[in-house]
Amino acid sequence: MDKYEQNLQKMIKMGEEERMKAIETKKEICVCGGCPSYNDCAREKKELLYCALGKSATCITDEAGCICPNCPVTEQMGLTHDYFCTKGSEREQRGM
Ligand code: SF4
Ligand code: SF4
Repeated sequence: MDKYEQNLQKMIKMGEEERMKAIETKKEICVCGGCPSYNDCAREKKELLYCALGKSATCITDEAGCICPNCPVTEQMGLTHDYFCTKGSEREQRGM
C-alpha cells in the first residue's frame, strides 16, 4: 500500500464532520487558483481540490499547464497524478 492508499484509508475511516474539516483545510492550501488552467468560471464557483473531489464539472476543459506537482497536498497525500480538474481525482485516475 503506498502513501496515497494509506491516506485514503484514513479519510474513509473518518466521520463525516472530520472528513469535511479535512477537506476545508486542504482547500485552503490548494494552489489551483494560481494555475494557468484555472479560469474565472472555476473561481466564481469556488472550485478547488480536484485531486480529491473530482474533475471540474463545467468550467475547466483546456489544459494550459498544471501546478499540482508543486502543491503541498501532493506531498501530504502522496499523489502521483495531475490535471485532476480535467482528468478526475487521484482515486479515479488510479481506477480505484
Ligand atoms: S494537488 Fe492540485 S487539485 Fe489537489 S489541492 Fe493541490 S493544486 Fe489543488
Ligand atoms: S488540477 Fe492542476 S491543472 Fe487543474 S487547476 Fe489545479 S493545478 Fe491547474
